[in-house]
Amino acid sequence: MAKSEKSLFLEQKTAWERWNDKEVKMVFSFADEYREFLNTNKTEYEFTESTIRELEKNGYRSYEKVASSGKVAFPLKIYFNNRGVCVSAFQLQKDFRERGLNLILSHIDAPRIDMRQNPLREDFSLAFFKTIYYGGIRRYQWANIPLALHGVICTKGGKTVKVSIGEKESEPVFMICDLLPHIKGSQTERKAADVFKGEELDVTAGSIPSSVKDDKVKDRVKAKVLELLHEKYGLVEQDLFTADLQFVPAWPVRDMGLDRGLLAGYGHDDRICAYTSLRALLDTPRSKSSFGVYFMDKEEIGSTGATGAQSRFVENCIVRILNLVKSPDPEFHRVDLLEKSRAISADVGIAITPIFADSFDTKGDPKLGFGTIVSKFVGGGGKSGSHEARAPFAGMVTRLFDEKKIPWQVGGFGKVDLAGGGTVAKFIAQYNMDIIDIGPGVVSMHSPCEVISKADLYSTYLAYHAFLGC
Ligand code: MN
Ligand code: MN
Repeated sequence: MAKSEKSLFLEQKTAWERWNDKEVKMVFSFADEYREFLNTNKTEYEFTESTIRELEKNGYRSYEKVASSGKVAFPLKIYFNNRGVCVSAFQLQKDFRERGLNLILSHIDAPRIDMRQNPLREDFSLAFFKTIYYGGIRRYQWANIPLALHGVICTKGGKTVKVSIGEKESEPVFMICDLLPHIKGSQTERKAADVFKGEELDVTAGSIPSSVKDDKVKDRVKAKVLELLHEKYGLVEQDLFTADLQFVPAWPVRDMGLDRGLLAGYGHDDRICAYTSLRALLDTPRSKSSFGVYFMDKEEIGSTGATGAQSRFVENCIVRILNLVKSPDPEFHRVDLLEKSRAISADVGIAITPIFADSFDTKGDPKLGFGTIVSKFVGGGGKSGSHEARAPFAGMVTRLFDEKKIPWQVGGFGKVDLAGGGTVAKFIAQYNMDIIDIGPGVVSMHSPCEVISKADLYSTYLAYHAFLGC
């Protein structure tokens, strides 16, 4: 094989070693911007709002605005807001129906602790919020850490109120409390998965009884919590029954390691892919290609619901666009355009965790710092529940990365019989569309403090950028 034809992957070098000083500087400044975005966008609501702000700053208009103006000019820069928690954006050239679209789909929900519908309780003169975990977590990891409360409440009066408590140092935080080591209770003998049971994830909400004299009120600490919530947000207990409230780690993303090569913090899965694909979109102001990005909700619980990848939202955006450009046969063009398009399922991959290396295929699985991960398939056991990118499409994508000298590595998923997991890929593949999983590796995935490499972050951005414009 001639040297120029050799894949960067085969050289077995970290991405850091492939880049010159100027490029490494760009990696670090990109990571600073990413860290800031992650710190201020800890829920799908917040991420959607910030994304729309960025899109509008860059000349993208909402579907509603374009439709009501009746004016469609190319390149058409348009976005769709699905219920404030899911968003898509497109940049289309005149020939988009002939060429098809390059699509990147990621998810902006992340594992967390949701508030239960009837959450407030009092026990031993402490008030608690009962919770239900969202997504696949190792529950014990979420105890003994400061939690912030985020979300949206619709009050009895019909007002929608945004909630955020615990991000500023001046604000209180919340916590799930653990047993102390001095007491060898039954918990000591439990297996890791059950150190905390689902029913035990009670978040402490308050400790001071209400001073309001009312003999009918027995739970006075709970009453005080309600008084404070009413003072701050104007809500009553019943408003909690319909609220979207979640507890997330209260800490910011931090540089990790003396060389600052890693980023430790909450929500890399999968906002790292959403952020890098958004940046790739915005950093491609002109192109011959037509492309789009989707930021989906509900991936962590199976891509369900109106805002998950199984929703018709994905194709409804396409139909609406075809309607805007007065497509003579929208039904045919919907099918034809979806089949002609090609997509990246932009989700994080598993990177080897060295301390537990025996759970991995140590000679094949991805490592932190070696570039973005290209996975032909995900799934568990014998490729169960997997889509699989066919060789010609996978080859096209990796050739593109090699051509542009973008560091990438081969996907892997731990030992065959041990691992399992999925992405949005299989749902999008149902449109008879080519799709492949590409994203950076994560260590400590689904924990309150996930770890990624800044080199993989930047390689992923470069990879998405190259794909959109191809
Ligand atoms: Mn994910
Ligand atoms: Mn996940």
